[in-house]
Amino acid sequence: MPELPEVETVRRGLAPVMEGQRIAHADVRREGLRWPFPERMAERLTGARIDRLRRRSKYILGDLDSGETMLIHLGMSGRMLISGTPLGKFHHDHPAPEKHDHVVLDMESGARITFNDARRFGAMDLFATGTDDAHPLLAKLGPEPLGNAFNEDHLVAALHGRNTPIKTALLDQHIVSGLGNIYVCEVLHRAGISPRRKAGRIAAGKVAALVPVIREVLAEAIASGGSSLKDYRQADGELGYFQHAFRVYDREGAPCPTPGCTGTVRRIVQSGRSSFYCPVCQR
Ligand SMILES: [Zn+2]
Repeated sequence: MPELPEVETVRRGLAPVMEGQRIAHADVRREGLRWPFPERMAERLTGARIDRLRRRSKYILGDLDSGETMLIHLGMSGRMLISGTPLGKFHHDHPAPEKHDHVVLDMESGARITFNDARRFGAMDLFATGTDDAHPLLAKLGPEPLGNAFNEDHLVAALHGRNTPIKTALLDQHIVSGLGNIYVCEVLHRAGISPRRKAGRIAAGKVAALVPVIREVLAEAIASGGSSLKDYRQADGELGYFQHAFRVYDREGAPCPTPGCTGTVRRIVQSGRSSFYCPVCQR
């Protein structure tokens, strides 16, 4: 499942062909994906200009000049494919539609953006611009981990008194939004905190120290183009590289990469998800 860095990588890949560009024609090829598409979605998209392409948590949001915002969620296997010659050329070079191409946006520039999703856990929606906080998928999200509202005070207060493992707490989207399983494993390893520790029993200083580690891990992953796991691809079809830099995720049995540590990476299951950690240097 694409996590925040992958979604941000896709957003950055789409921005040059979508921002400031008008949708000449939207082709909606099925009724919906995980949920039904909004009524008359193709008509509401056709002719609209995308003024801004932004991200909230794992959602890509396009503010349209029609007064609506287009929400895109990649879900488990969603991919955004770019084809065609952008910027004013009449030459079209689009591949034939494939089975799982569900929504096709032909931009006035000649570029084509195709939402392909084999497993159909993705989503698209339209809502009035400026009402993010009222949208069911966005309303209860905690602060962005790379934004100013996510800081030491917030995290210390949010974890205070919590009896859940720190791993589970950091996956709670009310506490911090967009942080997923892979990056929580990586963050806890760098911070030297066991995923099993009760969140409310970690010293405030150690909790505060998680904030810069979270930002650092996400920033590195975005800089290297997100991780390419299974169905995930960058918007231009390139693969991301961060999986090669995983220190513990999916590395069960490997020696711990912490300098001087003699531990071996272990895998346990917490709340139905795999946790990878070093029992020696993560306490
Ligand atoms: Zn270790």
